Amino acid sequence: MSIIPLFALPSGIEITACSPQEGVLCVSLLSTQPSSPCPFCGTAATRIHSHYQRRLTDLPSTGQPVRFQLSVRKFFCDESTCPRKIFTERLAPFVAPSARVTARLFQLVQIIGLATGGRLGQRVTDRMGVQTSRFTILRRIMALPTEPVGHVTHIGIDDFSFRRGRKFGTIVVDLQTHKILDVLPDRTADTSAAWMAAHPEIELVSRDRGGDYAAAARKAVPAATQTADRFHLLKNLGEALEGVLARHLAAHRKRQTETARASLIQTPQSGEPPKVLPKSSALSQAKREQRQAQYQHVVALREQGFSQTAIAEQVGVGHATVSRWLSNGTFPEQKPRPRSASVDPHLSQLVQRWKTGSSTVAELHRELVADGYSHQYNSVYRRLARFFPDGPKKRYTHSLPKEQKQQDATDPLPRPPVLARQAMFLFLRRPEELLAEEQETLALLRSLHPEVDQAYELVQQFAQMLRTLTGEQLDDWLEQVRASHIRELQGFVTGVKQDKEAVKAGLTLPASNGVVEGKVNKLKLIKRMGYGRAGFPLLRQRVLHAL
Ligand SMILES: [Zn+2]
Repeated sequence: MSIIPLFALPSGIEITACSPQEGVLCVSLLSTQPSSPCPFCGTAATRIHSHYQRRLTDLPSTGQPVRFQLSVRKFFCDESTCPRKIFTERLAPFVAPSARVTARLFQLVQIIGLATGGRLGQRVTDRMGVQTSRFTILRRIMALPTEPVGHVTHIGIDDFSFRRGRKFGTIVVDLQTHKILDVLPDRTADTSAAWMAAHPEIELVSRDRGGDYAAAARKAVPAATQTADRFHLLKNLGEALEGVLARHLAAHRKRQTETARASLIQTPQSGEPPKVLPKSSALSQAKREQRQAQYQHVVALREQGFSQTAIAEQVGVGHATVSRWLSNGTFPEQKPRPRSASVDPHLSQLVQRWKTGSSTVAELHRELVADGYSHQYNSVYRRLARFFPDGPKKRYTHSLPKEQKQQDATDPLPRPPVLARQAMFLFLRRPEELLAEEQETLALLRSLHPEVDQAYELVQQFAQMLRTLTGEQLDDWLEQVRASHIRELQGFVTGVKQDKEAVKAGLTLPASNGVVEGKVNKLKLIKRMGYGRAGFPLLRQRVLHAL
């Protein structure tokens, strides 16, 4: 059986020998084309000048590195007017002149580089049996030619952070083709203006409200329409709304706590002495609510197919917590902390012993236990720590056992339905898309206070304007919000008024930075995989050539 098809060689190249040598498959190749075109004049040359050997690395075959020993020829150009007398035969597209790898291996490394970045790329190529280095991978990525931007009329522009909000770049997207046009190394007006100035054909710039991109567009493409992009409008409105909801939910919680306390004081149960709810209860209730909201968020993201790492990052809890919550399958109630009796009856004895400097907290604790007391080690430690603010810690550090750190979660109070942030999303969504349960929660929230109900009506009107592109209603809407005197929404209105033409355009023209946000997310993914020391040029290449 012929092995030629296994190596998929171009016609005119034959295999003369094939043998494994120290784990490498060595294949001898011979070029047999009867003629080769002169690279200068194009005349087909047939007269052979000499032979020489080229060593080439090819794609690995069944996990084995493949090395070609290729015998190629030099030809005479017999065209009398051609200044080139001798040339090496061309084997493109199989291999580029003077390359040491085949074109297909070159491309494979490029693709792996684009998908993974340098360092990870090398781990992938190692396992595939491709011998290359991180620097070669980086060079291959950088060698990719950048396509010229060409004619572009509608752009969306936004910033992204290189690392945790400390350094920013700019992304420019074609709103019609949804292609990333460019990535710029900062977000200054000068840089983006320079980019736009090179494209005087721009007719529309969708950008966030006010700020540097607006200034850049005014300067570089003054005739272009600017639109405040709907994504940011809705985001800003959501933030204002969250403020309204947070304020009313907090007031609601306070009312509940007060009612509950009053009822506990007034109605002692079955002859027990009246109890006053401990102060920490409101705090632990708030914590429990927060955890519950986080838990629900985790489950929702999981259902959408996000990885645990992505969920941990988005929800703001540890990876281990996400993993534990998902494997439990139910909301993880925390165990109430066992309460031990007060240490105070023994305090003077403890302090005496401590002052002599002869005992560690652990020893003191052991003695108390031996005497039949049921105190936790931590009770003793904490009491002494309070007594000697810099005492026990200095002499005896001991991290607290985990279960001791947890908060008391037993909580007899009815709780408000949701956190402000969740409530905000309920308020912004189309009412017809809500599940029955969500509709109940929404109704409950709206009944908290007339102001909350009014805020709901207002944000729904705004969302409606966005969806139906009815920006002509903006002035009416602004007036309604002003008249409502809802504090947090006034701030939003002020911002909108400062940029009203662009907001109106954003509410009227069918262009939105939603697509830009999608690209920013893709960019985040590439960023997370690292572009480290190779820096911005590598990030740009990977974004512009993303697979
Ligand atoms: Zn020639």
